Amino acid sequence: MQEYEVRIDRNKCIGAGSCEKVAPDIFSVDESNKVALKCAQAGAVSLKIGSDKIKSAVEGARVCPVYAIGVIDKSAGKSILGIEPEKNLEVRKILAHYDSSKEWQMDPFGFFTIKPFPAEGIIKVRYYNAKHQLAAEIAGKTAEEIYNTICREKLVSSLAHSAYLGSELQKAEIAMKRNLPYVQDDPLDFKQS
Ligand code: SF4
Repeated sequence: MQEYEVRIDRNKCIGAGSCEKVAPDIFSVDESNKVALKCAQAGAVSLKIGSDKIKSAVEGARVCPVYAIGVIDKSAGKSILGIEPEKNLEVRKILAHYDSSKEWQMDPFGFFTIKPFPAEGIIKVRYYNAKHQLAAEIAGKTAEEIYNTICREKLVSSLAHSAYLGSELQKAEIAMKRNLPYVQDDPLDFKQS
């Protein structure tokens, strides 16, 4: 079996935990909030793995925002990640702005209505297609599982619409958990909590 090595740099790690979420079979975040290697001795910063674990290792390494994880092909002696940062990349400074009256565009795939049901602990979402017909009802306990389901089912076609849904669903989840009134597209009113 081909051999690979996973290397972690605990000094670079900021404890974001994405690696553990994506590849819990290889990475964990320890009590000092730094990445550690499962199945390795305590304090180890490298781990030999076979090709059976390579997919998981690469996925975990790729989500690390600070490049604290390396995956090396032992026979070629080089990284297989292909995500080494450019040395002189200029960081763009961008001032956020958005004018909904001018920039908002209807998603050609349709639209959604969102309603939390606190007594049941679920959020129900209705999907209306481009002909404004109710075409799907999605129910879930968290914003994350619902927006990922919507994306998987390919019910949205634009990044802006996906981002809107994520934001609205998170609001609905907060409202449900804190027993706040939820009105789609309105800000949450925390004074009522
Ligand atoms: S994703 Fe990167 S920064 Fe986050 S815990 Fe893992 S190694 Fe550390």
